[in-house]
Amino acid sequence: MKSFTYQRAQSIQEATQKLMQARTEVIAGGTNLLDRMKVFLDEPDQLIDISRLSFNQIQPTSQGGLRIGALVRNTQLADDATVRQNYPLLSRAILSGASQQIRNVATIGGNILQRTRCPYYYDTGFACNKRKPGSGCPAATGLNRMNAILGASDQCVAVHPSDMCVALAALDAIVEIEGAKGKRQIPFTDLHRLPGNQPQFDTVLQPGELITAVILPPMSAAKSGVYLKLRDRSSYAFALVSVAAIVEISQNKIKTARLALGGVAHKPWRATAAEQFLIGKSVDDDTLQQAATLALQGAKPLAYNGFKVEMTKRAIRRAIGISANGGGLA
Ligand code: SF4
Repeated sequence: MKSFTYQRAQSIQEATQKLMQARTEVIAGGTNLLDRMKVFLDEPDQLIDISRLSFNQIQPTSQGGLRIGALVRNTQLADDATVRQNYPLLSRAILSGASQQIRNVATIGGNILQRTRCPYYYDTGFACNKRKPGSGCPAATGLNRMNAILGASDQCVAVHPSDMCVALAALDAIVEIEGAKGKRQIPFTDLHRLPGNQPQFDTVLQPGELITAVILPPMSAAKSGVYLKLRDRSSYAFALVSVAAIVEISQNKIKTARLALGGVAHKPWRATAAEQFLIGKSVDDDTLQQAATLALQGAKPLAYNGFKVEMTKRAIRRAIGISANGGGLA
């Protein structure tokens, strides 16, 4: 690891100003950043530690939702009594990711901002457009079993690795951002970007901006929300595909539907066409089949991940069916 200076920020303003300086990174949990620094992918001259700042609380909002500070640890959020009761899919999504040790240290902001990547990104013996723009994407024609089937470009076919982010996308979360130019809020689904011809950028954050909180709106239907993750082994494995589904039933018909997919795209993928289709329908095999087909419309599998298309469709049918029946473990 290359040597660097280390400094604790005393305020968010100090951190955002320092972040405007060249070759500067902020560190909180460090679970993704240190991995990258150890293999020389990131070589900052200075690290600004924000872990002692006060964005580490989970608070009720005046609207009846929750405001989650960006420095809340993953374990703290997954174990929060209100989250478990009102947004159980969020708790289950977090607990399905990484390991207990990583979840104890990793922050919510860091989970959201971990790099979208594939194994080639970490191996400097290969080219990678995300690491070095214009160098090439070996995953597009190489080993791409874990890679994207939706929204990819010929520049990058990586998928966003977070489970938590798939649940946040389905929950209509809002992201609070602070930077040298002030504060702003954006829908969570607008934070991450598709690769296009600039795969080096994972999000729409501007230089110097930091996430300070995530806001969950009140959502009574979320109590029946489901997070279903399919993976190669039962722990410490990224999703092959995952589904966050929140379905609200009224008089035996679907009143509202929220559907987000993980493991399939460069960002948590909200399946809006399928959601619209579901409204007003009965929950039967034909409805679920059509919704799943709509959600995967436009899928472009690579040489080794064609199985993800059918796997995702089946996961969607299962997750919607469980949510429509009141939720629970998928
Ligand atoms: Fe790099 Fe993206 Fe290609 Fe992976 S898929 S090698 S991260 S450019």
